[in-house]
Amino acid sequence: MRSWQVETQCPQCGAPVTLKEAQHVLSCSYCKTRLYLTPNGPFRYAISPKTASAETIYIPFWRIKGLGFTAYLPPKTAGSLIDKTYLATDVSLDMVSLGTRPQVMRLGFANSQKGLFIRPRRDFKRLLDCAIRQLNSPITERETIRDDPNIFLTDISGGDPFDRSDFSHWSPERTRTVFKKYDPVVSAFLDEGNSLVYFPVTAEAGDTVILSDGLTNRPIGKLTPSGLERLTKTAATAMSPPGALPLLCPNCGWDLDCAEESRAVLCPGCDKVWEIRRGHYASIPFEVPAKGNPDAFYLPFWKIKTTIPRLALHDTRDLARFANQSHIPRKPSPLHVFIPAFKMRPRLFLQLCKVFTCAQPETHPADRLPKAPYPILLKRDGIREMIPIVLAEIGAKKARFYPNLNRAEPAVERVTLAFLPFRQTGYEAVYEGNVTFAIPRNVLKWGRKL
Ligand SMILES: [Zn+2]
Ligand SMILES: [Zn+2]
Repeated sequence: MRSWQVETQCPQCGAPVTLKEAQHVLSCSYCKTRLYLTPNGPFRYAISPKTASAETIYIPFWRIKGLGFTAYLPPKTAGSLIDKTYLATDVSLDMVSLGTRPQVMRLGFANSQKGLFIRPRRDFKRLLDCAIRQLNSPITERETIRDDPNIFLTDISGGDPFDRSDFSHWSPERTRTVFKKYDPVVSAFLDEGNSLVYFPVTAEAGDTVILSDGLTNRPIGKLTPSGLERLTKTAATAMSPPGALPLLCPNCGWDLDCAEESRAVLCPGCDKVWEIRRGHYASIPFEVPAKGNPDAFYLPFWKIKTTIPRLALHDTRDLARFANQSHIPRKPSPLHVFIPAFKMRPRLFLQLCKVFTCAQPETHPADRLPKAPYPILLKRDGIREMIPIVLAEIGAKKARFYPNLNRAEPAVERVTLAFLPFRQTGYEAVYEGNVTFAIPRNVLKWGRKL
């Protein structure tokens, strides 16, 4: 899918800059300014109308984007990419979502000086719940079951098992199609940056007010004059483009290192990892394996120190038994769940959670960043909800623990960032640690475009 393009200006020199959707890092190619955008709340984008006017009314849509995961009964886990827009106000329009419009239109940051921006009425939290409920609905799958016939006793004509002359009735495969219903047990949603997108409409006054699409001029809705008045009263009075932080380390002043879609930034000067919370830099503790590997590059994982008493999971020994591993560690150590801090297809994402949580790689708090770290593309918000999903994937006796999954309530003691070493080969990134695992390299590249 083509990503959205957002046109804005460099806050320093005014030169035009094009950003991708939810891209936080603005680099100006003219004055070389690098900034981290800090919107107050979600990013607010506006689709530019065909002809701009102060009378243009901008209707808000919520955009929900992220990775959704659900564990079902009978035991099964599934993930999907969620990417939806919802009308965020009560006006009745012929359009309930924006469809693919933002992909082909020019977007800019919403600015209340350029028109009437209607405040969203539908609560975002409720919409998110709605999206999660969709994840939470039962699914029915068609399954083909193969009956393996015993050809010697039943499938040879004539009833004589030794008469092999006539094979006309014999079919090597008999299949049946059955429908299997899966009921959701627990879901998680990793948000990748939800935003508000404003769509321009023009209002033509009369006995009935006609609302027209600001791009095509096609009528898309009707209102009474008093309805229009009520609507425009809910326009936001102040709405400005996002604020920005200079990409300079707050500790040592060094240029911070990050990719344009990074959710946390690194300082090569004083070896710190910073996330951005409410317009400020806040440092995140990080860990690396004891022995460095000069040829490796490092993928970031969220390492969650946790216990799940309801599932009797307190340490690594419990986990090994839970997963029915052949090797049970002699000495128990604290239990950690590993969640990638980068994006990829949901299925593979879940597999990485499973492999690295089972492997429990050893990492230690460090004061030096590893060489060649991969950008941190997923925030830590929402990762706690992933713990039951990862356990659903790992656990061996599913029938026993699945009914308790939604009441698992993991206790999270600490979240750090663990950098794990990988070696580049032709097509793969091979893990250099206590378990054999390789990620196709194009998957990493593709995940950055998600
Ligand atoms: Zn500039
Ligand atoms: Zn620094």
